[in-house]
Amino acid sequence: MSFTIHGLGVSGGIAIGVAQLMSHATLEVAHLTLGPRMVDKEVARFEEAILAVQAELELLKVEAGKGNAPAELRAFVDLHGMILADPELSEVPKQIIRERRCNAEWALVQQMERLVEQFDAIDDAYLRERKADVVQVVERVVKVLLGHPGRSALRARKGVKEADQIIVAHDLSPADTIGFKEQRFASFITDVGGATSHTAILARSMAIPSIVGLHRARDLIRDGELLIIDGTRGVVIINPDERVLEEYRLRKSELELERSKLKRLKTMKASTIDGVDVQMYANIELPEDVEAARTAGADGIGLFRTEFLFLNRGDMPTEDEQFEAYRKVVKGMEGRPVTIRTFDLGADKSLDAMDRVQTNPALGLRAIRLQLAEPKMFRTQLRAILRASKYGKVKLLIPMLAHAHEIDATLAALQGAKQSLREQKVAFDEGIEVGGMIEIPAAALAIGMFLRRLDFLSIGTNDLIQYALAIDRSDETVSHLYDPLHPAVLMLVAHTIYSGDKAGLPVSVCGELAGDPALTRLLLGMGLRIFSMHPSQILEVKQHVLKSDVSDIAPIVRKILRYSEPEKIREQIEKLNA
Ligand code: PEP
Ligand code: MG
Repeated sequence: MSFTIHGLGVSGGIAIGVAQLMSHATLEVAHLTLGPRMVDKEVARFEEAILAVQAELELLKVEAGKGNAPAELRAFVDLHGMILADPELSEVPKQIIRERRCNAEWALVQQMERLVEQFDAIDDAYLRERKADVVQVVERVVKVLLGHPGRSALRARKGVKEADQIIVAHDLSPADTIGFKEQRFASFITDVGGATSHTAILARSMAIPSIVGLHRARDLIRDGELLIIDGTRGVVIINPDERVLEEYRLRKSELELERSKLKRLKTMKASTIDGVDVQMYANIELPEDVEAARTAGADGIGLFRTEFLFLNRGDMPTEDEQFEAYRKVVKGMEGRPVTIRTFDLGADKSLDAMDRVQTNPALGLRAIRLQLAEPKMFRTQLRAILRASKYGKVKLLIPMLAHAHEIDATLAALQGAKQSLREQKVAFDEGIEVGGMIEIPAAALAIGMFLRRLDFLSIGTNDLIQYALAIDRSDETVSHLYDPLHPAVLMLVAHTIYSGDKAGLPVSVCGELAGDPALTRLLLGMGLRIFSMHPSQILEVKQHVLKSDVSDIAPIVRKILRYSEPEKIREQIEKLNA
């Protein structure tokens, strides 16, 4: 039977393929059937993993016993220890391995899902909530079993090309999604997630259609069913009939044709009709993305989200590993500027090695706050970036700044890193520019202290909107309130661009706003001259720049900035784009 479900389209385009259901967000484990002689070994492997996690929790307990550790940590370690020791988790999976001759991770996840179902049926809210703890404990064990802490076990289904598979998951973490860069799936759809969650951003960066916030996709869709994903409209069609399928195949090839036509713009300079030059920079997550940036004709890298080098592994990359990654990007860009953002870990991009209990991670120890709290880790990264600066034009970008003392402490850390390299006679660019991300409203409002201390600014609209409107960017239940055109957001962005311009500091926008062609003219009219976005969006935005006349646009945008009525703003933006 054919039916349709609706969600939030976060990456446009059309995909047609078969559903591959994921068992759980970070527990996407393969199901393997074992030969009879393998079963004992598998049980032993499971027992070893349980012991390893017990040891992990013992260590955490020592940490939790220290004076400055939060009380919640102690309670949580105790609880997790109890859950792990419960025969439901430590014994029953062994029976499953033996009975079904399956791999340990699969057996454990099956048992977890059974337990989670039982929790859902409990009346007591406190006990019901405990299912998240069960899932976390299971995650720990699965990670040990996989031998790659933090690595997703997602694999393409045998016999079906990756390009024809559609991942259907309850949720995907950025760490899961980054694995998709190696395995090209046709699309992914999830029950939860917001439009500017990092998972959605990754989907856009890969230019694969994606829908989040579908609520019950995982319950309604069965493994192997044929799906059409319309990422632009946020629609999933399950088991489409031949007529609908034909219609979408046609639309898909039309879109591909439009995309390929845009390629002609690759080598064209992005100048407006009235001769205003605009820089088109690329946002990247991994060194391999440089290829896409070059293919799209990017003038430079405006945002290298280095924290993705840290995800999907249980430890920190060494200075040399980081240096190699940064140098690869710098060399690949052949003299064009490369803006390396120091790691923005925390919030939805957490690292196993430093998992902390935080009640509100988006407002917690994230980005620069975490960096300054971990000076060794910070220095390692700064040294690696400085070393790479010898190979081209590198700029350093600091995320989530709000206070003058954070900038001062960062600059002092940079001086320290420089001095250590000088002492070791290692070459680097002494004049490396340092910029700050404007993504906290306080920073945009008190812009003077940033202008006086930094060489350039980059507006992170994803977080700026999240914090200005108090909307969790990864929560689909409030995603309808995530409004880039809210007058307060427009004021903050315009004020930052204007202030930077007046002080002679380059300002870019590297949040998702920059890659939305419907807003290109609005940003041009605000005075923006550096746009940074996913490589897949560059040519379309460039096309809009080429067709724009700043002298026509600017007066309309000035008018828009005086409005406080959303309807009026939208009306004028339509006029702007007409
Ligand atoms: C932003 O916040 O707009 C931004 C570019 O950074 P990220 O999306 O990585 O938080
Ligand atoms: Mg940000």
